[in-house]
Amino acid sequence: MKQTFIGLALCAILAWGVWQQRPAPTHSDVTHRELFALGTLIQISVAGDIDAAVMNQAQAALNMLEQRWSVLGDGELAQLNQTLQTQARAALPTTLHDGFVAARQLCLDSDGRFDPGVGDLVRLWGFDDEDHFRDTPPPTPQLKAALQQRSSLCDSAIDAQSVVVDQPPARFDFGASAKGRAVDEVMSLLRAEGINNAIINAGGDIKVIGQRAQRAWRIGIRHPRPHDGRTMLASLNVHDGEAIFTSGDYERFLIHDGVRYHHIIDPRTGYPAQGSQSATVLHSSAERADAAATALFVAGPTDAASVMQNMGVEAWLLVDANGDIHASDAMRARVDDLAAP
Ligand code: AMP
Ligand code: MG
Repeated sequence: MKQTFIGLALCAILAWGVWQQRPAPTHSDVTHRELFALGTLIQISVAGDIDAAVMNQAQAALNMLEQRWSVLGDGELAQLNQTLQTQARAALPTTLHDGFVAARQLCLDSDGRFDPGVGDLVRLWGFDDEDHFRDTPPPTPQLKAALQQRSSLCDSAIDAQSVVVDQPPARFDFGASAKGRAVDEVMSLLRAEGINNAIINAGGDIKVIGQRAQRAWRIGIRHPRPHDGRTMLASLNVHDGEAIFTSGDYERFLIHDGVRYHHIIDPRTGYPAQGSQSATVLHSSAERADAAATALFVAGPTDAASVMQNMGVEAWLLVDANGDIHASDAMRARVDDLAAP
């Protein structure tokens, strides 16, 4: 529990660091608002004045999405998961339908590296809830059983009214894509309200509209192993409609016998994915960027290029388990100051 808090606090501080890294504005025409949702501090900055009513709308939308997509509590996803504990078919509320369809496609595109069907494994590892947090890895027989019985979202059938899994019990966890989906929705809301220049920073995951005072929004990608005062892996200008998302092994983890067990599960093994420290993806869809960052992390250096190609991602950056950097040409062309390994 303590390490989760430390991990989350570090994320918040480093996200703040990313934020602070922007060059100083030539004039102070950017206003900021901080919201808290989806377990993350979400900072919205707008070139010009922030309309309080629009920010209240954004907060309300985020609260609704959090409730809807949480595995905890009694929101729509939690209730659906409850049904899937005993039945193979569950009613799919219209509010969840499009997110399920999109995630199933992302699961297929990633060849199962991104798979919300890891819900029971995530729960077993205790990464779904502060109260479930463990000091040791789960017993191997329990992990094997959970792996054997799990239903992949890739193999589930979705129609207008329902989702059908291979066999109950099943549990879906959208922790790897719901934040991206929420960021897309908040950005659409801001645009619909006539805001043309803004940036949303959800714990270091970012999407932008327009520019900041006639210059591109500039952001830093955090280093997975900050050292010697170097906290950033690279920095880049992010343009209208672009999102940049990172998955890292430093976000939630436990350390047992000197081994780090983190929250990104390889759906094929049931264990935290082995090959990566952090994975960053640039894409116009924050939902796709979020899922693809998780998939890239799971893919690791060997499969990175092919998985990213199948997911329609051109610009990606991976720090492997040894700290070596792998990046697509499209990403190399975009970043400045790419850290030496
Ligand atoms: P992210 O930080 O975006 O990579 O998402 C990680 C979160 O997504 C975890 O805390 C789990 O709730 C869930 N998750 C873990 N592994 C996977 C996976 N391979 N595919 C989909 N969701 C996952
Ligand atoms: Mg993700």
